[in-house]
Amino acid sequence: MAEHVFPVHRSDEQWRELLTAEQYHVLRRAGTERAFSGEYCNRRTDGVYHCAGCDNELFDSKTKFDSGTGWPSFYEPIDEGAVMERADHSAGMVRTEVVCADCEGHLGHVFNDGPEPTGLRYCINSAALKFKSREQAG
Ligand code: FE
Repeated sequence: MAEHVFPVHRSDEQWRELLTAEQYHVLRRAGTERAFSGEYCNRRTDGVYHCAGCDNELFDSKTKFDSGTGWPSFYEPIDEGAVMERADHSAGMVRTEVVCADCEGHLGHVFNDGPEPTGLRYCINSAALKFKSREQAG
């Protein structure tokens, strides 16, 4: 994989100012919100999910599905360059971490047990996302 340069950089202090405690915990410390606790878990509204850290467009509501896991789940990112994926060996598991391609914020993980057409399940924390209607998204 070619070296990826994340265009959005902020100091830890700036992130703390910019984000809520929950957003900071997830995005900047690779935290995980409690299952079924996030505001977008059951959301069905038509629109676009942006990065809560840098506003990068990440996922289209058209690709959201009910995984039953308690976290917002999508079968693909809104475009190829929206997110980055990398190996995550934390917590005694081998998983694939998903981060925002612009600010390197931790979003969640991707698994191979999703629905058609991709067979992928992007398991994403609500706290890492900001939903906007298509009008708001422009
Ligand atoms: Fe971001």
